[in-house]
Amino acid sequence: NSELVQRLEETIENIPDFPKPGIQFKDITPIFLDPKLYEEVIADLANFSRGKVDAVCGIESRGYLFGIAIAVALEVPFILIRKKGKLPPPFVSEKYDLEYGSAEIEMRIGQLKPGQRVLVHDDLLATGGTTEAAAKLVEKQGAKVAQFSFLIGLKDLLGEQKLAQFKVPVHSILEY
Ligand code: IMP
Repeated sequence: NSELVQRLEETIENIPDFPKPGIQFKDITPIFLDPKLYEEVIADLANFSRGKVDAVCGIESRGYLFGIAIAVALEVPFILIRKKGKLPPPFVSEKYDLEYGSAEIEMRIGQLKPGQRVLVHDDLLATGGTTEAAAKLVEKQGAKVAQFSFLIGLKDLLGEQKLAQFKVPVHSILEY
C-alpha cells in the first residue's frame, strides 16, 4: 500500500537527538490529527491479522493507540501489556535488557486463554527487546504468538532478527 506509506512518511515527524544525542525519535502523534489517515492505518493493520488471531496484545503505551482499534475491527479481545507496577495481581512478569539497565513488563493472568492465537502489537520495532518480552508473556500463559505488527520497523536495529525465533509473520507498514 504505497500511497499509505507515502502519507505516513509525510506525517510522522523525525526529531533529532531525542531522547538522547544521536537518537532520531519518530513522533507518530500527528497521525491522530488526521482521522482518515488513522482509519487507513487501522484498516491496513486489521487486514494483516483478519482471520489469523483470536486476541490482540498491545504494549504500553503507544501500542494501545492502534492495538485496541485493531481488536475492535477484528471483534476479538484486547489485552494490555503494562510496565511494571501498574497492574493489580494476579499477573505474569518478564524482564528484558535495555541499552542501559533493564525493564519489566506485565500482563494479567486469565485474560488471555490457553491456545489462543495472539497478535502482539506495538507502534515501533527497534531492537525487539520489548516485543520479545511481550511474546514470552503470551507463551507463559499457554497462548500462541501468531503474528507481530508495527507501524514502524527500524531495520538497522535488527528487531526482526530477534523475533525470528517465534517463526511467525512480522508486518511493519513503514521500514526505515
Ligand atoms: P525495542 O525494545 O528496542 O524494540 O524498542 C521498542 C520500544 O521503544 C517501543 O515500545 C517503542 O514505542 C519505543 N521506541 C523506541 N524508539 C522510538 C521512537 O523513535 N519513536 C517512538 N517510540 C520509540
